[in-house]
Amino acid sequence: VGKLYLGLLHYPVYNKNKEIITSAITNFDIHDISRASKTFGVDKYFIITPENGQKSVMGKIIEHWQKGFGATYNKDRKTALDITSIVNSLDDAIDTIIKDTGKKPIVTATSAKKDENYSLYTIDKMRTLLEDKNEDPILLIFGTGYGMVMKDIPQIKNLLEPIYGVGDYNHLSVRSAVSIYLYSLMGK
Ligand code: SAM
Repeated sequence: VGKLYLGLLHYPVYNKNKEIITSAITNFDIHDISRASKTFGVDKYFIITPENGQKSVMGKIIEHWQKGFGATYNKDRKTALDITSIVNSLDDAIDTIIKDTGKKPIVTATSAKKDENYSLYTIDKMRTLLEDKNEDPILLIFGTGYGMVMKDIPQIKNLLEPIYGVGDYNHLSVRSAVSIYLYSLMGK
């Protein structure tokens, strides 16, 4: 039974003008985050969007690489996508984890900024939780667009400490952020 799950949230997120929107799924985010997830033992990667049009286009892309011509053309890509699915909402992702594990996940957001309203997990603390088989599973949520609308996502109770480099600037692409976190949480 897996312990670490990833969610990429496309709603509710901000756009450039601080309006609340549903962002578009990008092809990069499907493949790059699936590969990183597979490499570091993530149990399932949920792409979360309520948008039906997006879901069917992206569902077709995943199917192409899993079952269509792509499955024989690039087997590594097929393997990585085994853990990837598109779901309607954060609650659907949580329900799937409860079905898989019998436990409610600890839903933890990631952000380039700290937020006093949430309890902050350090990387070390998160590693300890992940190593303990008796602890609840963890669902790590990543944002898209200009970041998640935290006030409208009551399921999120915790934040993982932001990634910092050498200076104040730390606005990473979501794909970079996923890889750096996974390496620090699960890397050997
Ligand atoms: N359009 C952008 C892209 O293509 O990546 C989406 C930006 S989205 C707001 C970036 C997400 O990556 C954030 O919501 C957060 O989950 C994560 N992230 C970025 N920089 C981070 C940092 N320094 N520490 C922690 N998480 C970070």
